[in-house]
Amino acid sequence: MKSTGSWYMVRVNNVTYPCRIVGKFRMGDQKLTNPVAVGDRVRIQLEDSEESTGVIREILDRDNYVLRQSPRRKHFMHLMAANIDQALLLVTLREPELKPGFIDRYLLMTETHDIPCILSFNKIDLYTPEDHQDLEEIKSIYQKIGYSVIGISAKTHENIDQLREMLAGKRTLVSGQSGVGKSSVLNALDPHLQLPEGELSDYSGKGQHTTTFAEMYFLHHNIQIIDTPGIKTLSFNNMEVQDVAHNFREFFEYSSPCRFYNCTHQNEPGCAVKEAVVEGEISIIRYQNYLAIIGEIEDQNYWERHTDF
Ligand code: GDP
Ligand code: ZN
Repeated sequence: MKSTGSWYMVRVNNVTYPCRIVGKFRMGDQKLTNPVAVGDRVRIQLEDSEESTGVIREILDRDNYVLRQSPRRKHFMHLMAANIDQALLLVTLREPELKPGFIDRYLLMTETHDIPCILSFNKIDLYTPEDHQDLEEIKSIYQKIGYSVIGISAKTHENIDQLREMLAGKRTLVSGQSGVGKSSVLNALDPHLQLPEGELSDYSGKGQHTTTFAEMYFLHHNIQIIDTPGIKTLSFNNMEVQDVAHNFREFFEYSSPCRFYNCTHQNEPGCAVKEAVVEGEISIIRYQNYLAIIGEIEDQNYWERHTDF
């Protein structure tokens, strides 16, 4: 249900036991900052005479998971959640302004693990007519490539019922940059939650995070939420350029006629992806964000290769 660093909250038939981990758990050759994620199914052994705490003995096989590069330790990966049905990315065009490229970075992360993703634009009550036009344009870009997009307001409750329907009966990983209204949206979905709202001003550089650790919540309508701390940035130095190309889903679809089988869709001749961008079939915004990500990876790899100097 939650981990606070040293303790892992494990729920067994409506009772929650704080548990510790002993020994090492690995995932292939990946270095992980956390061996167990919210959503994991584990086998525990109760300890002490009161049997109020336990030890995690085994992590059962995961149906899936979402990994991100650790923001603090770049050679480590962080397990965001395990065993989920879908992801919900909350963004807004206002307060705070949408960070360019953020959506595509998030989708690269979920696509890599084949997790379906809903994009939800919050605070539509604040949008100007131009913002609404922008939102329509963004909607058409992402709906065309198969993502659900919905504008909502936690304040006026516009489209909250529709969002609730999209979450009903599922376990959803919920993420967003700090201040997008994640707590407010979750409270709007189920007022019983009563998460603290507006306690942080992370994007202004001051204040405290409200959500420091990922945590699972059970809402009405059989909705399971894994709430995660606000995301500042997403980097992909662990990935190869080819992996990025394969996980921009529409690029992959258009890429089979590329002259080179390992085309990175930059300056190669006979690139079908670039042609699709010119034809307006692939969004130029997606393409620019793609170039920015692979540019970072290539720069990084250059320095990695030369660290022995
Ligand atoms: P979190 O950091 O993503 O959990 O964001 P909070 O839920 O704490 O909300 C951050 C701020 O945005 C608070 O001041 C909320 O009152 C405000 N807020 C959240 N949702 C909306 C919305 O739909 N419309 C408006 N106008 N403000 C909102
Ligand atoms: Zn190409």
